[in-house]
Amino acid sequence: MDGKIAGLRERWKQRTEAAFERMLGGKSEEELVTFTEREDMAVLIGKELAAFLLEENVGQDPAVEPAEASTTCCPKCGQPGEPAVRKGEKLVDRTVATRAGEVHMRRQRWRCAKCRIVFFPTGRAIASGNGRF
Ligand SMILES: [Zn+2]
Repeated sequence: MDGKIAGLRERWKQRTEAAFERMLGGKSEEELVTFTEREDMAVLIGKELAAFLLEENVGQDPAVEPAEASTTCCPKCGQPGEPAVRKGEKLVDRTVATRAGEVHMRRQRWRCAKCRIVFFPTGRAIASGNGRF
């Protein structure tokens, strides 16, 4: 986990460094002339950084791939589901519209053999935000 956090921290530093260069490092002098252009760029950068933080934070949620099947009960019958994506296979990529723009996230899907449905669990982190996750 520490190596993963270190890699994440490095990617964050690269992004904030690039953001600094775009606004303050003199790399965008020609395109940042009017106040509106400067404001647009600052807001865009803020959204990009917010999307990065949100995406990575949600990616750390245990609900991405719960170890306990009992935490992933079928919404119809309440029985524990079975993973719909097997080990070694890629988790399903979802795109979610947020206030920071579109965010990509991966989630294990679950299957209920009895009800013959496939569903996403509703974890704490993904249940909030108007339940759109
Ligand atoms: Zn069921």
